[in-house]
Amino acid sequence: MTKKVAIIGAGITGLASAYYLKQQDPSIDVTIYESSNRPGGKIQSYRQDGYMIELGPESYLGRKTIMTDLAKDIGLEQDIITNTTGQSYIFAKNKLYPIPGGSIMGIPTDIKPFLTTKLISPLGKLRAGLDLIKKPVEMHNGDISVGQFFRARLGDEVLEHLIEPLMGGIYGTNIDNLSLMSTFPNFKDKEQTFGSLIKGMKYEKQQRIKQRQLYPGAPKGQFKQFRHGLSSFIEALEQNIKHKNVNIKYQTAVDDIISTQQHYDIVCGDNTEQYDGVLVTTPHQVFLQWFGHDPAFDYFKTMDSTSVATVVLAFDEQNIENTYDGTGFVIARTSDTDITACTWTSKKWPFTTPEGKVLIRAYIGKPGDTVVEDHSDEEIVSIVRRDLSKMMTFKGDPDFTIVNRLPKSMPQYHVGHIQQIRQIQQHIRNTYPRLRVTGASFEAVGLPDCIKQGKEAVEELLQEI
Ligand SMILES: Cc1cc2nc3c(=O)[nH]c(=O)nc-3n(C[C@H](O)[C@H](O)[C@H](O)COP(=O)(O)OP(=O)(O)OC[C@H]3O[C@@H](n4cnc5c(N)ncnc54)[C@H](O)[C@@H]3O)c2cc1C
Repeated sequence: MTKKVAIIGAGITGLASAYYLKQQDPSIDVTIYESSNRPGGKIQSYRQDGYMIELGPESYLGRKTIMTDLAKDIGLEQDIITNTTGQSYIFAKNKLYPIPGGSIMGIPTDIKPFLTTKLISPLGKLRAGLDLIKKPVEMHNGDISVGQFFRARLGDEVLEHLIEPLMGGIYGTNIDNLSLMSTFPNFKDKEQTFGSLIKGMKYEKQQRIKQRQLYPGAPKGQFKQFRHGLSSFIEALEQNIKHKNVNIKYQTAVDDIISTQQHYDIVCGDNTEQYDGVLVTTPHQVFLQWFGHDPAFDYFKTMDSTSVATVVLAFDEQNIENTYDGTGFVIARTSDTDITACTWTSKKWPFTTPEGKVLIRAYIGKPGDTVVEDHSDEEIVSIVRRDLSKMMTFKGDPDFTIVNRLPKSMPQYHVGHIQQIRQIQQHIRNTYPRLRVTGASFEAVGLPDCIKQGKEAVEELLQEI
């Protein structure tokens, strides 16, 4: 008999999971339940008047090749675009400082640019140098916070002015709570192998240079996008799986998932459908609504997510003066701003913006603050303009602005997260056969990671149904 699988959520994780399910077993009957009226979840591209504006994520890390491979499989190879490289900055001590050349996520690998930067004091530089002789930092129960680890290796100043703005922003989590082993385990690995982070990252940089020498014509940028935006990837994926008879039910929120001996019942309002297997790809708070009675999932009750908004400002080039030549900046926590980062999108991704216009995208919302919840769109735009006027001059108003609120959208991976997730996954394997749970709340938030997690969950599920 034909086996039936339900996937909950049509974000990138859910859609990619359906793709791999069908690829591995075309005979399976797959239905996706999606509460909103569109696919993509946090991914949303806005295309109008020659602009291509990302309202959620803006690109993906090209070195995680699973997304490029999938894009090729669904016919988007010709549409892949690499970012224009340029100087990035850090706003600290009320000024923009260029990120020292040669650093990887803030960790110095070239001595000269690090010694000459004015972002770090002479004492801070000396302290960072102790990394070369310090013993590996001890972890407790297999994890440590990103803050504690880098403070111990490179000192407070390098952590606060270089590393925290770069790493903290990606995860929307306070750096002193953020789990190193759930986010950047590679740094611990390098420290162990080379006895020093600086030496380890120097090695990593040499490897990247060698890799580039193998492909001399390859673009230099680290990030990838699509000519018609990330939504075009989602639309192509949606079309691909629909052609394989995947049924996508939009505006169909799942109210409950009930586990019976042989099946799972998916309950949506008055309707109940039976499935052999279920893959949940919603944020963990939604999963908890259905499985909160099981104390094995209590961790999710304590796991918060940060609310953020992306704020887009589109200017005529006459109305804005930006003397910095680069692709954008991140902001040190010690700075007095509400925004956390800003991309000069028209410079990083020139294809997104018509000639003669300037496109800026800022992020607002930090862990623990309520700025996104407490203010209207107009107020948020004026907060963003107030902060940005510390770095550039507005000579007139923007042609238009967009505020895209993403409530509870950045899952916070605190110390011990990965161990908790492994226990939870094991509990699910033992207690709920033919059920899998995956997505951004679990092992990683990046778009290629979401695809990879979906693929792995599908492989496990297929062994059980
Ligand atoms: C502001 C921001 C910027 C980011 N920038 C980047 C970036 O540049 N690069 C990068 O790689 N990553 C970035 N990320 C991370 C990345 O966007 C996310 O991790 C990823 O999109 C999550 O995909 P997902 O499919 O797991 O979840 P989601 O996109 O959240 O999808 C889950 C889906 O489940 C649906 N759903 C919820 N409840 C129900 C229900 N009861 N019944 C049915 N359906 C339901 C939702 O409507 C949604 O469509 C960013 C994240 C944010 C918030």
